[in-house]
Amino acid sequence: MIDLHTHTTCSDGTDSPRELINKALSQGIDVLAITDHDTTAGWSEARKAVRGDIELVLGAEISCLTHDGISVHMLGLLFDENNAPMQKLLEETRDGRIPRMKKMIELMRAEGMNISMEDVEAAMPPGATLGRPHLADALVKNGVIASRDEAFQGLLNNDSRFYVSHAAPTPEEAISIIRSAGGVAIIAHAFASHRGQILGAQDFQGLCDAGLNAIEVNHRDHSDSEREMLRAIAIEQNLVITGSSDYHGNGKLNSLGENSTDLEQWLRLESQANARRVVKA
Ligand code: AMP
Ligand code: ZN
Ligand code: FE
Ligand code: FE
Repeated sequence: MIDLHTHTTCSDGTDSPRELINKALSQGIDVLAITDHDTTAGWSEARKAVRGDIELVLGAEISCLTHDGISVHMLGLLFDENNAPMQKLLEETRDGRIPRMKKMIELMRAEGMNISMEDVEAAMPPGATLGRPHLADALVKNGVIASRDEAFQGLLNNDSRFYVSHAAPTPEEAISIIRSAGGVAIIAHAFASHRGQILGAQDFQGLCDAGLNAIEVNHRDHSDSEREMLRAIAIEQNLVITGSSDYHGNGKLNSLGENSTDLEQWLRLESQANARRVVKA
């Protein structure tokens, strides 16, 4: 079983990198990618935690914004951790999340909601990439809402009046930096239409020209017809097809390995990185 998209306490997941690897081992996952939002902070703990037969793929999920303001998530796997442009990109995106969070809180307070930046900081593991799930946790703690899931169906959804975007690279910029850093780029949950505005099929040519390697087709946020449309684009553009859980621990309903990638597709994707970077015990 190959799961190429998961989160830890280094962003908005609830398992530490070590806990996640142990869980993956106990569930018979053969290849696991750790892809925290806009950070490689979990990589060193994850490397140390590798044991048994599991193969660890280190990566990150980069938050991007198109010129039209559409939110796109780009998975970068197997890139060189010490690549300076890549670390700069990740750092700038993380930094952009702080003023954005303050603005969202301001909008909520203006409508009388009980929430502050201090509450959100208290809900966040130290060193984690700040995100809306931490705001959701603080709102749950303050009794404003019942769960993260409820938050994302209303108050914190991309279409909500409280939603604010943050400074982020375009998808093409992210792909180009991932590839220059030797890694491979997978567009994550591209047609997850219930999250907000999404790309159209015509937008994929530009991504392919920038060096896109793969499309995440099998993801819980895609309907059968959305999967079919993405699969057709992948076949037409000769891109690798992946599937993954987007596991977040208790922070989301997604269970580890609920969607997976075929071995043949994974081998093809891995061969497109500029060095062999899969971590084994
Ligand atoms: P942000 O990166 O701050 O814009 O927040 C987006 C994050 O919220 C993504 O990583 C999603 O995984 C997470 N998210 C989206 N929907 C839900 C949900 N229903 N429950 C928990 N987390 C969610
Ligand atoms: Zn997340
Ligand atoms: Fe995502
Ligand atoms: Fe994700």
